[in-house]
Amino acid sequence: MTISIQGVSVSRGIAIGQIHIVQHDQLDVREYSIRNSQLEDELSRFNNAIADARQQLRAIRGHIPVSTSVDISAFIDTHLLMLEDITLTEEPKRIIKERLCNAEWALKLQRDALVNVFNEMADAYLSTRRDDVDHVVNRILRVLLKQKPLLHEVPDDHLKNRIIMADDLTPADTVLMQHYGIAAFATEFGGPTSHTAILARSLGIPAIVGLHSARRFVKNDDLVIIDGSTGMLLVDPDKSTKSFYEKRQREVKRYYSSLGKLKNAPTESKDGIPIILTANIELPKDFETVRDVGAKGVGLYRTEFLYMNRESPPDEEEHFETYLNVLKALRGLPLTIRTLDLGADKQVDGAGSQIGQVRSNPALGLRAIRLCLKEPGLFRPQLRAILRASAHGPVKIMIPMLTNIEEMQQVLQMLEDIKSDLDNNSIDYDSDIKVGGMIEVPAAAICADIFAKKLDFLSIGTNDLIQYTMAIDRVNDEVNYLYDPLHPAVLRLITSIIKAGKKANIPVSMCGEMAGEREHTQLLLGLGLREFSVHTASLLEIKKIINNTNIDELSSLIKKVHNTSSGAEVNLLLQRLNTDQI
Ligand code: PEP
Ligand code: MG
Repeated sequence: MTISIQGVSVSRGIAIGQIHIVQHDQLDVREYSIRNSQLEDELSRFNNAIADARQQLRAIRGHIPVSTSVDISAFIDTHLLMLEDITLTEEPKRIIKERLCNAEWALKLQRDALVNVFNEMADAYLSTRRDDVDHVVNRILRVLLKQKPLLHEVPDDHLKNRIIMADDLTPADTVLMQHYGIAAFATEFGGPTSHTAILARSLGIPAIVGLHSARRFVKNDDLVIIDGSTGMLLVDPDKSTKSFYEKRQREVKRYYSSLGKLKNAPTESKDGIPIILTANIELPKDFETVRDVGAKGVGLYRTEFLYMNRESPPDEEEHFETYLNVLKALRGLPLTIRTLDLGADKQVDGAGSQIGQVRSNPALGLRAIRLCLKEPGLFRPQLRAILRASAHGPVKIMIPMLTNIEEMQQVLQMLEDIKSDLDNNSIDYDSDIKVGGMIEVPAAAICADIFAKKLDFLSIGTNDLIQYTMAIDRVNDEVNYLYDPLHPAVLRLITSIIKAGKKANIPVSMCGEMAGEREHTQLLLGLGLREFSVHTASLLEIKKIINNTNIDELSSLIKKVHNTSSGAEVNLLLQRLNTDQI
């Protein structure tokens, strides 16, 4: 009998194959006392275990193919760095000495203390750090307990085409298994922001997370199907279910390979309206892909990733060099650099102490432009570097999370000051550089006309605009159900921002996730959006929908949309439009 288990879809695609269950055995750690005379031996046993764990991670990193993106090896490097951190390398030794206990127990006590600190911080980014601590500690414990290497860390062919099922996966597991040719991942824990999810998307492997207790219903070698689009795991499918998914797998494959043809095609609706389709980028690996998918430039470069996994913020030179690298990869395509958007769920070490503590409502706190204006020492080097980079290629500046026009006036004043400083030092920059703002706070959306008069362009950040309009924390699972891009309030705000831009004769783009969600493309075209900035992975799919849409024919549907009273009604109206999508 086919069993279906619903999880959270994190990476699209269909995989059919035999399951391989990864057992991260429960490590049985017990305390025992040691005598003073055994202390030195126990301390060196601990030191050796750290050295062995380091060695294992280096070996895993050595297995990563050169073609794998840098952010993946960065996950392993994070674990290696943790093995250098005194909280893991020295603190347990202090506990061993103090309690005269075994190394495993000391390490366990230290892990519990660290995890408690992370647990108190209700923050998505920091909670992934908690997982990192667990993964690294378990690796050391396995060495101390003389456990055999995990089966999936033994390099051979036994995982090829297998579907991996685990409680959770470490970044190292994920990378290794991908290298061994696995077909998909499914985990019981983790959410859309977990490392497994990020890696699966980045590696293009179908994946589902949050399949609570699923391992009770499967055993090794069972045949399963993973539908990464719906988040469904099917165990022991009957013949007709299997052939349905085999057919669907072929269709999906055909569909994605057919999109490649669109790379050099213009982006234009069926009734001849040209649309600008640009890319959202974050990490160095994204720089090259912009041209690979035929994007017309970068509509959102999230620079906060420059600040992650480091002790101190990047200086002006590092900003400048990075922007030059992006410009080089773009070879003449325009680059919109979004200034620092740290705070809320984007806490990083690399901003030093400047962010301050995480407060109880971080999303409503000192974030993005608010933080930058409060900390000019953090902001000025970035603005100066952007201006300098503008002498080397087409660059625009985009300010996140504007709430009132005074913030914008302060930014413009800072830019003027930096420009005269550059003039005084005979340093080149584009004196006509365009400065735009993200409209993602309802106050700014309602007053978009005011911003449109002062700015060169607007970009709608729907991720935050929806969060703030619906009064929900975008990283809180419990209120995720209210995250509705189709809520009439959201659609009214989007419509009025687009109109404000039109009236002021300035471009309006959308760079939030909604712009890259295929089920919303036609709606957005109908509402008047003419510029989309999306992830490179979804760009060609969005182009295909745009090129197949007759915008003029959407007008009666849009009238109906404006008269609906709920997101669910809009969804029903859109379903008819979206029927031919894969
Ligand atoms: C947004 O809020 O829609 C956006 C694009 O910015 P971020 O997701 O980086 O906050
Ligand atoms: Mg935002």
